Amino acid sequence: MICCNRCFKDVEIKAIIKSLNVTGDCKTCNGKNVYIYDTTIHGQLVDVFNELLEVYLPTNHLPDDYPREKMNLLKDELYEKWGIFNIDKEKIYTLITNICYEKYNEYPEIFDSPISIMKLNDNEYLQGNSITKTHSWEHFVKEIQTNNRFHTDYINTNVLDMFCGNVKKTYKGGTILYRARISTEDGFTISEMGAPPSNKASDGRANPLGISCLYLASDRETTLHEIKAGAYDYVTIGEFELQEDIDVIDFIALDKIGPFSGIDMTLHAINKENTQKIGNEIAKPLRRNDGPLDYLPTQYITDFIKSKGYKGIKYKSTMNKDGYNLAIFNPGLFQCRDICVYDVRGIKYDSVPLYD
Ligand SMILES: [Zn+2]
Repeated sequence: MICCNRCFKDVEIKAIIKSLNVTGDCKTCNGKNVYIYDTTIHGQLVDVFNELLEVYLPTNHLPDDYPREKMNLLKDELYEKWGIFNIDKEKIYTLITNICYEKYNEYPEIFDSPISIMKLNDNEYLQGNSITKTHSWEHFVKEIQTNNRFHTDYINTNVLDMFCGNVKKTYKGGTILYRARISTEDGFTISEMGAPPSNKASDGRANPLGISCLYLASDRETTLHEIKAGAYDYVTIGEFELQEDIDVIDFIALDKIGPFSGIDMTLHAINKENTQKIGNEIAKPLRRNDGPLDYLPTQYITDFIKSKGYKGIKYKSTMNKDGYNLAIFNPGLFQCRDICVYDVRGIKYDSVPLYD
């Protein structure tokens, strides 16, 4: 069976296929003149996938009382949980059984029956290796919102730190980002465009009340979305320049760490849901009725990141899919060097009915 670099989303797998340097047409995704991998000739992906499959056990090897809700089919794990493939699930089944045909012949249950990871149901292991210990992310959110705010014992900070270290991103001095404020036709001055001082800083997703933080976006349009500028508003957009090289934690990448990135696969697998939920929580669009308690979980995570010496966080803009945001813990790292006033002529609404 022939597949190609385009059949995969996983960067490590794509790189392996490209390194073979064989081009042709792919019958799996119909890609033309792409880097191909022929499962009857090439073997480079066999051990890579076998190592991942080792993490799982099929139903008949799991204890009788193992919770059914923690079981899944391999093709779903590979597609939904790990995001390895760029093809539909039926094709994944055919492709993975061709890549790992020896394993499929010896051990078809792993491909055909529900599978799971024993450690997912092992409280002692979870206590030391899951970001949220034996709790769910939702339990942690409830705990910090309603019970213990500053000394919660729900998070394994060393595990969180290890994942953060995998998604560190460096921004070079001179990088330009943007911040917008709704203003009058006259606009704000350059000195008025910075982050509010500590005594005026309100709660945000990356800062608690009273702690200043500078929220920037990748481009002018994203800033307009982020401040929810309305039609006929005047908006002052400031251009900010980074003064030195800095390291931030990239929450967009957190959700995309693949299984072959070097992190222990079992530890990675039991934390996949956590890292996805943290990434989503950071980028969650805020609604008009949300209050300061809704920011607490992300404030907790970002406060930890700040304590480790990182200078900010990067997260996706849910308001403008092509854009991203950066929250900078020390606002002085960026200097506003130019401003321009914009007249918002129109906005586009996108809505769906919640009830029929
Ligand atoms: Zn392909």
